[in-house]
Amino acid sequence: MKPSTEPKVIIRHCDAYDAARIRQIVKEGLEELDLRPSGRTLVKPNLVASGPDFPHAYTRPEFTEGVLMALKDRDDGGVTELAVGERCGITIPTRHSFEGAGYGPMVKRVGDVKHYFFEEEPQVEIPLTHEGRLRDYLFTPEPVAKADFFVNCPKFKAHPWTTVTFSTKAYIGIQDDRHRLIDHDHKLNEKIADLQYIVQPQFIAIDAITAGEGRMLTPIPFDLNLVIMGNNSVAFDAVCSAIIGLDASQIEHIKLTADRGFGTTDLSQIQISGDVTLEQAQARAKGFRTGLIRVEKYFEGTAISAYAGPPPDAEHSDYCWGGCPGAIEEAIEILRQTDEQCDENMKRMHVVFGAYRGPIDAKEGERVVFIGDCANWDGQLGGDTVSVKSLYRDRKTKDPYEATDEFIGSKMSKVQKVIKEADKEPYLRLQGCPVSVAEQVLALSIVGGLKSPLSPTPESRRLGKNILKWKGKVALKSLVGHKYQVHGSAERGEAAPEVPGSPTPGE
Ligand code: SF4
Repeated sequence: MKPSTEPKVIIRHCDAYDAARIRQIVKEGLEELDLRPSGRTLVKPNLVASGPDFPHAYTRPEFTEGVLMALKDRDDGGVTELAVGERCGITIPTRHSFEGAGYGPMVKRVGDVKHYFFEEEPQVEIPLTHEGRLRDYLFTPEPVAKADFFVNCPKFKAHPWTTVTFSTKAYIGIQDDRHRLIDHDHKLNEKIADLQYIVQPQFIAIDAITAGEGRMLTPIPFDLNLVIMGNNSVAFDAVCSAIIGLDASQIEHIKLTADRGFGTTDLSQIQISGDVTLEQAQARAKGFRTGLIRVEKYFEGTAISAYAGPPPDAEHSDYCWGGCPGAIEEAIEILRQTDEQCDENMKRMHVVFGAYRGPIDAKEGERVVFIGDCANWDGQLGGDTVSVKSLYRDRKTKDPYEATDEFIGSKMSKVQKVIKEADKEPYLRLQGCPVSVAEQVLALSIVGGLKSPLSPTPESRRLGKNILKWKGKVALKSLVGHKYQVHGSAERGEAAPEVPGSPTPGE
Protein backbone atom coordinates (compact mmCIF):
# COMPACT_ATOMS: atom_id res chain seq x y z
CA MET A 1 0.00 0.00 0.00
CA LYS A 2 1.39 3.41 -0.93
CA PRO A 3 1.64 5.41 1.18
CA SER A 4 2.31 3.06 4.07
CA THR A 5 -0.58 2.56 6.46
CA GLU A 6 1.85 1.67 9.23
CA PRO A 7 3.56 5.02 9.65
CA LYS A 8 6.96 5.03 11.26
CA VAL A 9 9.37 7.90 11.81
CA ILE A 10 12.97 7.47 12.93
CA ILE A 11 14.86 10.38 14.52
CA ARG A 12 18.66 10.01 14.47
CA HIS A 13 21.50 12.18 15.73
CA CYS A 14 24.00 13.36 13.11
CA ASP A 15 26.17 16.43 13.71
CA ALA A 16 28.24 16.53 10.51
CA TYR A 17 27.79 16.46 6.74
CA ASP A 18 29.78 13.26 6.62
CA ALA A 19 28.50 11.14 3.71
CA ALA A 20 29.83 7.89 5.23
CA ARG A 21 28.05 8.52 8.52
CA ILE A 22 24.82 9.55 6.77
CA ARG A 23 25.06 6.38 4.61
CA GLN A 24 25.22 4.22 7.74
CA ILE A 25 22.31 6.02 9.43
CA VAL A 26 20.12 5.83 6.31
CA LYS A 27 21.01 2.17 5.72
CA GLU A 28 19.91 1.38 9.27
CA GLY A 29 16.73 3.40 8.66
CA LEU A 30 15.91 1.42 5.52
CA GLU A 31 16.54 -1.81 7.43
CA GLU A 32 14.31 -0.77 10.32
CA LEU A 33 11.55 0.17 7.88
CA ASP A 34 12.13 -3.10 6.02
CA LEU A 35 12.55 -1.26 2.72
CA ARG A 36 14.60 -2.16 -0.33
CA PRO A 37 14.74 -0.05 -3.49
CA SER A 38 13.45 -1.62 -6.68
CA GLY A 39 12.89 -0.86 -10.34
CA ARG A 40 13.28 2.77 -11.33
CA THR A 41 14.47 4.32 -8.07
CA LEU A 42 14.27 8.10 -8.03
CA VAL A 43 15.71 10.33 -5.31
CA LYS A 44 14.34 13.88 -5.16
CA PRO A 45 16.35 16.36 -3.12
CA ASN A 46 15.30 19.98 -2.56
CA LEU A 47 17.53 22.13 -4.76
CA VAL A 48 15.26 25.17 -4.96
CA ALA A 49 18.33 27.43 -5.08
CA SER A 50 22.02 26.92 -4.41
CA GLY A 51 25.40 28.55 -4.91
CA PRO A 52 27.09 31.21 -2.75
CA ASP A 53 23.93 33.33 -2.35
CA PHE A 54 21.77 30.46 -1.07
CA PRO A 55 24.03 28.33 1.15
CA HIS A 56 21.29 26.91 3.40
CA ALA A 57 18.41 26.53 0.94
CA TYR A 58 19.12 23.03 -0.36
CA THR A 59 19.64 19.40 0.57
CA ARG A 60 23.39 19.16 0.92
CA PRO A 61 25.21 16.86 -1.54
CA GLU A 62 26.85 14.88 1.28
CA PHE A 63 23.34 14.07 2.51
CA THR A 64 22.08 12.89 -0.88
CA GLU A 65 25.33 10.98 -1.38
CA GLY A 66 24.74 9.12 1.89
CA VAL A 67 21.16 8.32 0.83
CA LEU A 68 22.22 7.10 -2.64
CA MET A 69 24.97 4.91 -1.17
CA ALA A 70 22.57 3.46 1.41
CA LEU A 71 20.08 2.65 -1.36
CA LYS A 72 22.87 0.83 -3.20
CA ASP A 73 23.67 -1.05 0.03
CA ARG A 74 20.05 -2.18 0.26
CA ASP A 75 19.68 -3.11 -3.40
CA ASP A 76 19.41 -6.86 -3.71
CA GLY A 77 19.44 -6.71 -7.49
CA GLY A 78 15.97 -5.26 -8.01
CA VAL A 79 17.04 -1.73 -8.98
CA THR A 80 16.96 -1.13 -12.73
CA GLU A 81 17.87 2.56 -12.54
CA LEU A 82 19.11 4.74 -9.71
CA ALA A 83 18.54 8.43 -10.40
CA VAL A 84 18.43 11.82 -8.73
CA GLY A 85 16.05 14.44 -10.12
CA GLU A 86 14.55 17.82 -9.28
CA ARG A 87 13.01 21.03 -10.67
CA CYS A 88 14.60 23.92 -8.79
CA GLY A 89 13.06 27.39 -8.30
CA ILE A 90 11.29 28.76 -11.38
CA THR A 91 13.14 30.49 -14.24
CA ILE A 92 16.52 29.11 -13.06
CA PRO A 93 17.77 25.99 -14.89
CA THR A 94 17.95 22.99 -12.57
CA ARG A 95 21.35 22.18 -14.08
CA HIS A 96 22.48 25.53 -12.59
CA SER A 97 21.20 24.55 -9.16
CA PHE A 98 22.79 21.08 -9.40
CA GLU A 99 26.10 22.69 -10.29
CA GLY A 100 25.90 25.33 -7.53
CA ALA A 101 25.16 22.62 -4.97
CA GLY A 102 28.06 20.41 -6.06
CA TYR A 103 25.78 17.60 -7.24
CA GLY A 104 27.81 16.81 -10.39
CA PRO A 105 30.93 15.59 -8.56
CA MET A 106 28.72 13.87 -5.97
CA VAL A 107 26.83 11.87 -8.60
CA LYS A 108 30.19 10.86 -10.11
CA ARG A 109 31.52 9.79 -6.69
CA VAL A 110 28.51 7.54 -6.10
CA GLY A 111 28.79 6.11 -9.62
CA ASP A 112 26.15 4.60 -11.86
CA VAL A 113 23.58 7.25 -10.95
CA LYS A 114 21.52 9.08 -13.56
CA HIS A 115 20.44 12.68 -13.11
CA TYR A 116 17.25 14.29 -14.35
CA PHE A 117 16.74 18.02 -14.74
CA PHE A 118 12.96 17.75 -14.75
CA GLU A 119 12.29 20.70 -17.06
CA GLU A 120 14.44 19.02 -19.73
CA GLU A 121 12.31 15.84 -19.64
CA PRO A 122 8.93 15.18 -21.32
CA GLN A 123 5.99 16.33 -19.18
CA VAL A 124 3.29 13.67 -18.94
CA GLU A 125 -0.33 13.80 -17.89
CA ILE A 126 -1.71 12.43 -14.62
CA PRO A 127 -5.52 12.36 -14.47
CA LEU A 128 -7.22 13.29 -11.19
CA THR A 129 -10.62 12.06 -10.13
CA HIS A 130 -10.79 12.75 -6.39
CA GLU A 131 -13.35 15.02 -4.76
CA GLY A 132 -12.31 18.63 -4.27
CA ARG A 133 -9.54 18.64 -6.90
CA LEU A 134 -8.58 21.93 -8.50
CA ARG A 135 -8.15 20.35 -11.95
CA ASP A 136 -8.89 17.13 -13.80
CA TYR A 137 -5.25 16.51 -14.67
CA LEU A 138 -1.75 17.59 -13.81
CA PHE A 139 1.52 17.42 -15.68
CA THR A 140 4.67 15.99 -14.16
CA PRO A 141 8.08 15.03 -15.56
CA GLU A 142 8.12 11.50 -16.99
CA PRO A 143 10.78 10.14 -14.56
CA VAL A 144 8.46 11.04 -11.65
CA ALA A 145 5.44 9.32 -13.20
CA LYS A 146 7.48 6.22 -13.95
CA ALA A 147 9.23 5.93 -10.59
CA ASP A 148 8.84 2.56 -8.90
CA PHE A 149 10.61 3.49 -5.68
CA PHE A 150 10.42 7.18 -4.85
CA VAL A 151 12.69 8.69 -2.21
CA ASN A 152 11.94 12.20 -1.01
CA CYS A 153 14.97 14.04 0.43
CA PRO A 154 13.79 17.50 1.45
CA LYS A 155 15.61 20.13 3.49
CA PHE A 156 14.15 20.91 6.93
CA LYS A 157 13.01 24.53 6.45
CA ALA A 158 10.43 27.14 7.26
CA HIS A 159 8.36 28.57 4.41
CA PRO A 160 6.68 31.99 4.02
CA TRP A 161 3.74 30.58 2.03
CA THR A 162 3.07 27.31 3.83
CA THR A 163 4.71 27.64 7.30
CA VAL A 164 7.08 24.71 6.71
CA THR A 165 8.53 22.75 3.81
CA PHE A 166 9.00 19.11 4.69
CA SER A 167 7.92 16.09 2.63
CA THR A 168 4.49 17.07 1.24
CA LYS A 169 5.43 20.67 0.38
CA ALA A 170 8.57 19.56 -1.47
CA TYR A 171 6.24 18.19 -4.17
CA ILE A 172 6.15 21.62 -5.77
CA GLY A 173 9.47 20.50 -7.29
CA ILE A 174 7.81 17.73 -9.31
CA GLN A 175 6.41 20.21 -11.82
CA ASP A 176 8.14 22.41 -14.39
CA ASP A 177 7.60 26.19 -14.40
CA ARG A 178 4.60 26.46 -16.69
CA HIS A 179 2.62 23.87 -14.72
CA ARG A 180 3.95 24.84 -11.30
CA LEU A 181 2.76 28.43 -11.62
CA ILE A 182 -0.86 27.40 -12.26
CA ASP A 183 -2.72 27.59 -8.91
CA HIS A 184 0.44 28.81 -7.14
CA ASP A 185 -1.75 31.43 -5.45
CA HIS A 186 -4.28 31.40 -2.62
CA LYS A 187 -5.07 27.79 -3.60
CA LEU A 188 -1.48 26.66 -3.10
CA ASN A 189 -2.34 24.36 -0.21
CA GLU A 190 -4.95 22.60 -2.34
CA LYS A 191 -2.49 22.37 -5.20
CA ILE A 192 0.08 20.70 -2.93
CA ALA A 193 -2.55 18.21 -1.75
CA ASP A 194 -3.46 17.43 -5.40
CA LEU A 195 0.20 16.84 -6.29
CA GLN A 196 0.31 13.96 -3.82
CA TYR A 197 -1.80 11.90 -6.27
CA ILE A 198 1.12 11.85 -8.72
CA VAL A 199 3.54 9.73 -6.69
CA GLN A 200 4.13 8.60 -3.11
CA PRO A 201 7.51 8.17 -1.45
CA GLN A 202 8.20 4.76 -0.01
CA PHE A 203 11.05 6.40 1.89
CA ILE A 204 11.69 9.92 3.15
CA ALA A 205 14.95 11.22 4.62
CA ILE A 206 15.20 14.91 5.50
CA ASP A 207 18.37 16.94 5.81
CA ALA A 208 17.85 18.39 9.29
CA ILE A 209 21.54 18.56 10.17
CA THR A 210 21.57 22.30 9.51
CA ALA A 211 17.92 23.29 9.21
CA GLY A 212 16.62 26.63 7.85
CA GLU A 213 14.59 29.10 9.88
CA GLY A 214 12.20 31.81 8.75
CA ARG A 215 12.32 31.53 4.97
CA MET A 216 12.90 29.10 2.14
CA LEU A 217 15.43 30.75 -0.23
CA THR A 218 17.61 32.55 2.30
CA PRO A 219 16.88 30.68 5.54
CA ILE A 220 18.79 31.37 8.71
CA PRO A 221 20.88 28.28 9.54
CA PHE A 222 19.73 26.42 12.64
CA ASP A 223 21.73 23.39 13.80
CA LEU A 224 19.34 20.58 14.63
CA ASN A 225 21.92 17.83 14.03
CA LEU A 226 19.24 15.37 12.94
CA VAL A 227 18.52 12.93 10.16
CA ILE A 228 14.81 12.08 10.20
CA MET A 229 13.43 9.19 8.15
CA GLY A 230 10.00 7.75 7.54
CA ASN A 231 7.67 5.79 5.28
CA ASN A 232 4.63 8.09 5.08
CA SER A 233 4.74 11.78 4.11
CA VAL A 234 1.87 12.99 6.28
CA ALA A 235 3.08 11.18 9.41
CA PHE A 236 6.61 12.31 8.65
CA ASP A 237 5.50 15.95 8.37
CA ALA A 238 3.49 15.58 11.58
CA VAL A 239 6.59 14.53 13.51
CA CYS A 240 8.78 17.24 11.91
CA SER A 241 6.10 19.82 12.79
CA ALA A 242 5.93 18.54 16.37
CA ILE A 243 9.71 18.93 16.65
CA ILE A 244 9.35 22.68 16.08
CA GLY A 245 6.30 22.89 18.34
CA LEU A 246 3.58 22.92 15.67
CA ASP A 247 0.46 20.80 15.30
CA ALA A 248 0.43 19.51 11.69
CA SER A 249 -3.37 19.24 11.75
CA GLN A 250 -3.34 23.07 11.80
CA ILE A 251 -0.96 23.39 8.82
CA GLU A 252 -3.27 23.61 5.85
CA HIS A 253 -1.40 21.62 3.17
CA ILE A 254 -0.58 18.78 5.57
CA LYS A 255 -4.13 18.74 6.96
CA LEU A 256 -5.65 18.61 3.45
CA THR A 257 -3.32 15.76 2.46
CA ALA A 258 -4.23 13.86 5.62
CA ASP A 259 -7.96 14.46 5.04
CA ARG A 260 -7.63 12.81 1.63
CA GLY A 261 -6.39 9.58 3.11
CA PHE A 262 -2.62 9.86 2.64
CA GLY A 263 -1.78 9.45 6.32
CA THR A 264 -2.33 10.62 9.84
CA THR A 265 -1.18 13.68 11.76
CA ASP A 266 -2.11 11.99 15.04
CA LEU A 267 1.21 11.39 16.81
CA SER A 268 -0.31 8.59 18.90
CA GLN A 269 -0.84 6.63 15.65
CA ILE A 270 2.77 7.03 14.51
CA GLN A 271 5.57 4.77 15.68
CA ILE A 272 8.52 7.01 16.56
CA SER A 273 11.95 5.52 17.19
CA GLY A 274 15.65 6.39 16.90
CA ASP A 275 18.50 7.47 19.16
CA VAL A 276 16.92 10.92 19.74
CA THR A 277 13.50 11.05 21.37
CA LEU A 278 10.81 13.44 20.16
CA GLU A 279 11.23 15.41 23.38
CA GLN A 280 14.99 15.66 22.90
CA ALA A 281 14.50 16.77 19.29
CA GLN A 282 11.99 19.38 20.49
CA ALA A 283 14.55 20.68 23.01
CA ARG A 284 17.08 21.07 20.17
CA ALA A 285 14.54 22.99 18.09
CA LYS A 286 13.49 25.39 20.84
CA GLY A 287 13.09 28.89 19.40
CA PHE A 288 12.98 27.74 15.74
CA ARG A 289 11.20 30.48 13.76
CA THR A 290 8.72 29.48 11.05
CA GLY A 291 7.23 31.42 8.13
CA LEU A 292 3.66 32.58 7.53
CA ILE A 293 3.92 36.23 8.51
CA ARG A 294 1.53 38.64 6.78
CA VAL A 295 3.29 41.10 4.53
CA GLU A 296 2.12 44.20 6.46
CA LYS A 297 3.77 42.85 9.60
CA TYR A 298 6.86 41.58 7.77
CA PHE A 299 7.77 45.08 6.56
CA GLU A 300 6.90 46.95 9.75
CA GLY A 301 9.59 49.50 10.61
CA THR A 302 11.19 49.42 7.15
CA ALA A 303 11.16 51.78 4.16
CA ILE A 304 8.41 49.65 2.64
CA SER A 305 4.78 50.06 3.69
CA ALA A 306 2.77 47.03 2.66
CA TYR A 307 -1.02 46.79 2.28
CA ALA A 308 -2.88 43.57 1.55
CA GLY A 309 -6.52 42.87 0.79
CA PRO A 310 -8.15 39.57 -0.02
CA PRO A 311 -7.44 37.69 -3.25
CA PRO A 312 -10.37 36.55 -5.43
CA ASP A 313 -12.55 33.89 -3.77
CA ALA A 314 -12.70 36.05 -0.67
CA GLU A 315 -15.08 33.59 0.94
CA HIS A 316 -12.21 31.12 1.09
CA SER A 317 -9.35 33.32 2.21
CA ASP A 318 -8.70 36.87 3.34
CA TYR A 319 -5.07 36.72 2.20
CA CYS A 320 -3.10 35.13 -0.61
CA TRP A 321 -0.66 32.92 1.28
CA GLY A 322 0.52 31.15 -1.85
CA GLY A 323 1.56 33.96 -4.16
CA CYS A 324 2.74 37.55 -4.49
CA PRO A 325 2.91 38.66 -0.81
CA GLY A 326 5.10 35.69 0.16
CA ALA A 327 7.29 36.23 -2.88
CA ILE A 328 8.11 39.81 -1.84
CA GLU A 329 9.28 38.54 1.57
CA GLU A 330 11.75 36.23 -0.17
CA ALA A 331 12.70 39.06 -2.57
CA ILE A 332 13.66 41.54 0.14
CA GLU A 333 15.77 38.91 1.93
CA ILE A 334 17.71 38.25 -1.28
CA LEU A 335 18.41 41.99 -1.57
CA ARG A 336 19.40 42.18 2.09
CA GLN A 337 21.78 39.28 1.61
CA THR A 338 23.49 40.89 -1.38
CA ASP A 339 23.54 44.41 0.11
CA GLU A 340 24.00 44.93 3.85
CA GLN A 341 22.90 48.56 3.51
CA CYS A 342 19.71 47.60 1.67
CA ASP A 343 17.26 48.85 4.31
CA GLU A 344 19.18 52.07 4.98
CA ASN A 345 19.51 52.87 1.28
CA MET A 346 16.03 51.91 0.13
CA LYS A 347 13.79 54.81 -0.92
CA ARG A 348 10.40 54.83 0.78
CA MET A 349 7.76 52.99 -1.20
CA HIS A 350 4.34 51.39 -0.85
CA VAL A 351 3.40 47.91 -2.10
CA VAL A 352 -0.23 46.84 -2.47
CA PHE A 353 -1.70 43.35 -2.91
CA GLY A 354 -5.21 42.03 -3.52
CA ALA A 355 -8.45 43.96 -3.02
CA TYR A 356 -7.08 46.38 -0.45
CA ARG A 357 -9.65 48.83 0.89
CA GLY A 358 -8.13 51.67 2.81
CA PRO A 359 -5.84 54.66 2.44
CA ILE A 360 -2.31 54.53 1.04
CA ASP A 361 -0.23 56.99 2.94
CA ALA A 362 2.16 57.94 0.12
CA LYS A 363 3.95 61.28 0.45
CA GLU A 364 5.30 63.21 -2.53
CA GLY A 365 8.06 61.29 -4.31
CA GLU A 366 7.15 57.93 -2.74
CA ARG A 367 6.31 55.29 -5.35
CA VAL A 368 3.28 53.03 -5.05
CA VAL A 369 3.52 49.56 -6.61
CA PHE A 370 0.44 47.39 -7.13
CA ILE A 371 1.62 43.78 -7.32
CA GLY A 372 -0.30 40.93 -8.96
CA ASP A 373 -3.23 40.56 -11.31
CA CYS A 374 -5.77 40.62 -8.48
CA ALA A 375 -4.65 44.01 -7.10
CA ASN A 376 -7.48 46.53 -7.18
CA TRP A 377 -7.95 49.81 -5.39
CA ASP A 378 -9.77 53.13 -5.65
CA GLY A 379 -8.54 56.25 -3.92
CA GLN A 380 -6.39 59.36 -3.99
CA LEU A 381 -2.66 59.37 -4.73
CA GLY A 382 -0.81 62.68 -4.83
CA GLY A 383 -4.03 64.58 -5.41
CA ASP A 384 -5.07 62.34 -8.32
CA THR A 385 -8.04 60.01 -8.26
CA VAL A 386 -6.74 56.54 -9.00
CA SER A 387 -8.68 53.41 -9.95
CA VAL A 388 -6.72 50.19 -10.28
CA LYS A 389 -8.83 47.33 -11.68
CA SER A 390 -8.33 43.62 -11.09
CA LEU A 391 -6.91 41.75 -14.08
CA TYR A 392 -7.30 38.36 -12.41
CA ARG A 393 -8.41 35.52 -14.68
CA ASP A 394 -10.43 32.73 -13.17
CA ARG A 395 -8.39 29.53 -12.78
CA LYS A 396 -10.91 27.69 -14.97
CA THR A 397 -9.54 29.71 -17.90
CA LYS A 398 -5.99 28.48 -17.27
CA ASP A 399 -5.57 25.15 -19.02
CA PRO A 400 -2.33 23.22 -18.24
CA TYR A 401 -2.33 22.12 -21.91
CA GLU A 402 -2.11 25.72 -23.03
CA ALA A 403 0.32 26.98 -20.40
CA THR A 404 3.65 28.39 -21.52
CA ASP A 405 6.64 29.55 -19.55
CA GLU A 406 8.52 32.76 -19.91
CA PHE A 407 12.25 33.16 -20.27
CA ILE A 408 13.81 34.96 -17.30
CA GLY A 409 15.35 37.61 -19.60
CA SER A 410 11.97 38.54 -21.03
CA LYS A 411 10.41 38.72 -17.55
CA MET A 412 13.17 41.07 -16.43
CA SER A 413 12.79 43.27 -19.53
CA LYS A 414 9.06 43.55 -18.91
CA VAL A 415 9.59 44.69 -15.32
CA GLN A 416 12.13 47.30 -16.43
CA LYS A 417 9.77 48.55 -19.15
CA VAL A 418 6.77 48.83 -16.78
CA ILE A 419 8.79 50.79 -14.24
CA LYS A 420 10.23 53.10 -16.89
CA GLU A 421 6.83 53.78 -18.48
CA ALA A 422 5.32 54.63 -15.10
CA ASP A 423 8.10 57.07 -14.26
CA LYS A 424 5.82 60.12 -14.15
CA GLU A 425 2.72 58.25 -12.97
CA PRO A 426 1.49 58.17 -9.36
CA TYR A 427 1.75 54.38 -9.33
CA LEU A 428 2.92 51.36 -11.28
CA ARG A 429 1.62 47.88 -11.61
CA LEU A 430 3.32 44.50 -11.93
CA GLN A 431 1.16 41.91 -13.66
CA GLY A 432 1.17 38.18 -13.06
CA CYS A 433 -0.46 35.55 -10.90
CA PRO A 434 1.88 35.13 -9.16
CA VAL A 435 4.53 37.79 -9.72
CA SER A 436 7.70 35.79 -9.16
CA VAL A 437 10.42 36.36 -6.59
CA ALA A 438 12.88 37.26 -9.38
CA GLU A 439 10.55 39.94 -10.80
CA GLN A 440 9.98 41.40 -7.35
CA VAL A 441 13.72 41.46 -6.59
CA LEU A 442 14.26 43.55 -9.71
CA ALA A 443 11.27 45.83 -9.05
CA LEU A 444 12.28 46.52 -5.45
CA SER A 445 15.84 47.27 -6.46
CA ILE A 446 14.86 49.73 -9.22
CA VAL A 447 12.05 51.47 -7.35
CA GLY A 448 14.08 51.44 -4.13
CA GLY A 449 17.13 52.92 -5.86
CA LEU A 450 19.39 49.99 -4.91
CA LYS A 451 22.28 48.34 -6.71
CA SER A 452 20.96 46.41 -9.71
CA PRO A 453 20.80 42.65 -9.20
CA LEU A 454 21.37 42.36 -12.96
CA SER A 455 24.97 43.65 -12.80
CA PRO A 456 27.28 41.01 -14.31
CA THR A 457 28.96 38.76 -11.74
CA PRO A 458 30.66 35.36 -12.04
CA GLU A 459 27.37 33.86 -10.80
CA SER A 460 25.26 35.64 -13.43
CA ARG A 461 27.67 34.55 -16.18
CA ARG A 462 27.45 30.95 -14.96
CA LEU A 463 23.64 31.30 -14.98
CA GLY A 464 23.71 32.62 -18.55
CA LYS A 465 25.73 29.62 -19.72
CA ASN A 466 23.37 27.18 -18.00
CA ILE A 467 20.31 28.85 -19.51
CA LEU A 468 21.84 28.39 -22.96
CA LYS A 469 22.56 24.72 -22.24
CA TRP A 470 19.02 24.16 -20.97
CA LYS A 471 17.32 25.81 -23.91
CA GLY A 472 19.70 24.11 -26.35
CA LYS A 473 18.94 20.69 -24.88
CA VAL A 474 15.17 21.20 -25.09
CA ALA A 475 15.43 22.57 -28.66
CA LEU A 476 17.56 19.59 -29.73
CA LYS A 477 15.04 17.11 -28.30
CA SER A 478 12.25 18.90 -30.12
CA LEU A 479 14.20 18.81 -33.40
CA VAL A 480 14.45 15.02 -33.21
CA GLY A 481 10.72 14.76 -32.66
CA HIS A 482 10.38 14.49 -28.87
CA LYS A 483 7.25 16.24 -27.66
CA TYR A 484 7.73 18.35 -24.53
CA GLN A 485 4.18 17.82 -23.32
CA VAL A 486 2.71 14.37 -23.87
CA HIS A 487 -1.08 14.19 -23.96
CA GLY A 488 -3.09 11.31 -22.57
CA SER A 489 -2.90 9.35 -19.34
CA ALA A 490 0.73 8.53 -18.55
CA GLU A 491 2.36 5.21 -17.85
CA ARG A 492 2.99 5.01 -14.10
CA GLY A 493 5.52 3.20 -11.95
CA GLU A 494 5.01 1.27 -8.74
CA ALA A 495 5.24 4.47 -6.68
CA ALA A 496 1.83 5.65 -7.98
CA PRO A 497 -0.38 6.15 -4.90
CA GLU A 498 -3.16 3.81 -3.87
CA VAL A 499 -5.57 6.01 -1.96
CA PRO A 500 -9.30 6.47 -2.39
CA GLY A 501 -9.92 8.57 -5.49
CA SER A 502 -6.59 7.90 -7.22
CA PRO A 503 -7.10 6.68 -10.74
CA THR A 504 -5.75 3.31 -11.76
CA PRO A 505 -2.53 3.87 -13.74
CA GLY A 506 -3.34 3.89 -17.44
CA GLU A 507 -6.96 4.99 -16.89
S1 SF4 B 1 -2.21 37.88 -8.33
FE1 SF4 B 1 -0.80 37.34 -6.68
S2 SF4 B 1 -1.87 37.91 -4.81
FE2 SF4 B 1 -3.40 37.79 -6.46
S3 SF4 B 1 -4.25 35.71 -6.39
FE3 SF4 B 1 -2.55 35.73 -7.88
S4 SF4 B 1 -0.77 35.08 -6.67
FE4 SF4 B 1 -2.32 35.74 -5.22
